[in-house]
Amino acid sequence: MSLRGKVAVVTGSTSGIGLGVARAFAAEGADIVINGFGKAEDIERERAALVADFGVKALYSGADLSTGAGVRQLVADAEAGFGRVDILVNNAGIQFVADIVDFPEDRWDAIIAINLSSAFHGIKAAAPGMKARGWGRIINIASAHGLVASGQKSAYVAAKHGLVGLTKVAGIELANTGVTCNAICPGWVLTPLVEKQLHDRAGKNGTSFAQEQEALVAEKQPMKQFTSPAQIGALAVFLCSDGAATITGAPLSIDGGWVAQ
Ligand code: NAD
Repeated sequence: MSLRGKVAVVTGSTSGIGLGVARAFAAEGADIVINGFGKAEDIERERAALVADFGVKALYSGADLSTGAGVRQLVADAEAGFGRVDILVNNAGIQFVADIVDFPEDRWDAIIAINLSSAFHGIKAAAPGMKARGWGRIINIASAHGLVASGQKSAYVAAKHGLVGLTKVAGIELANTGVTCNAICPGWVLTPLVEKQLHDRAGKNGTSFAQEQEALVAEKQPMKQFTSPAQIGALAVFLCSDGAATITGAPLSIDGGWVAQ
């Protein structure tokens, strides 16, 4: 168990990729801070499952990461519960699809706040403690859309490109402190965020959910298959291992060949 004794905060881990990453860290022995929204009983079930399945400690913080104060609250909750933060995964994210000329200003602001600014505030709050202890891992969950663009996703593409840029700057600034900062750039992962998009497309196109699912991966990815949250978790665990000690400032694709084209 390579992460026994470490404390990992995973933002947006009540669902999807964040939950997969939290479970992968717990399987390696890390204590976990879960964050995000959802039904209280579902969150408690996931929290209890981490404890029961892997014998680690797990606490939940419902901090809303759309403001700097909310992000600082999350780090404070982790420090109050476990004394420190060793691993920070900036994963919480939202999405909205519309042409720029029709894009609602409040959706733009919310996407930039949650998908980009929350990572800035998280690094600001958690990196000093990591530096002082001489070890830390910061992992930003960006996207293939952090490296290439698609239409109708202006705020998301801008936020994810920004997150890749922030990752590079943090990697440089934290070099030689024992703290690394990297970005994981997934292609399609079947999570509630993507399921909603598929239902919307099926409704608009008069197709089935299964047809839209097949069309989605075929459209962009040479490997016409989804990546799983567990596979994202495995890459995150690798980034916390000794083998990854000199990887920093790097956007790492896990996208079935999407951005290779
Ligand atoms: P999801 O909708 O399943 O999960 C998002 C999580 O973020 C949830 O736990 C939600 O409660 C939380 N969240 C949303 N707003 C929040 C806020 N204000 N404060 C705190 N938590 C908040 O989505 P997902 O597909 O698992 O996506 C996770 C991350 O991965 C996102 O950053 C997304 O952009 C990125 N990503 C997803 C895919 C994909 O295909 N699913 C691909 C590339 C990148």
